[in-house]
Amino acid sequence: MDSYTVIQLGNPLLRMVSEPISEDLFGSEKLKKMESILFKILEEKQGLGLAAPQIAINKRAIVFGMKQHPIYTDLAPIPFTVLFNPSFEPLSDVIEEGYEGCLSVGQLRGKVPRYKTIGYRGYDANGNLIEREVSDLHARVVQHEFDHLDGVIFLDKVTDHSSLGFHEELIRSGALPSKKAD
Ligand SMILES: [Zn+2]
Repeated sequence: MDSYTVIQLGNPLLRMVSEPISEDLFGSEKLKKMESILFKILEEKQGLGLAAPQIAINKRAIVFGMKQHPIYTDLAPIPFTVLFNPSFEPLSDVIEEGYEGCLSVGQLRGKVPRYKTIGYRGYDANGNLIEREVSDLHARVVQHEFDHLDGVIFLDKVTDHSSLGFHEELIRSGALPSKKAD
């Protein structure tokens, strides 16, 4: 079994622009394997999303999904999705700030402005088109993961630097809710 680890901020691989998946790979075992590795690590790390460059695969592939948010339990679930060669466009000019973290950035969190509503598209491992219009957390996750494919980390987009903090301290200060639901 291959072993993959999530590479951490400072590793230059996180700053590279990832290469598109060539069309003749759709339907291949290679892509199906990449998909299963990405989902496996997403589950192991209990992340919302993961981009291939985070496991040192320099390809335009992302996975994301959520059954139930650990804190905001009334949030709509996000279907577990793989997107090869993803793209997105904002569907309105509305931008919202929200806290983000990243499996490559340890416990640091910060507020990132993102489009509230986007349309995205990409392909599954068989080359089937996946196309959705989404809002809020679903839209945020896709924008965050998409950025990884261009070597962009959420920290680059934090405009209010005073929002930066470590997860536990932000919970202690009340900026972020505790994992224990009231
Ligand atoms: Zn990330």
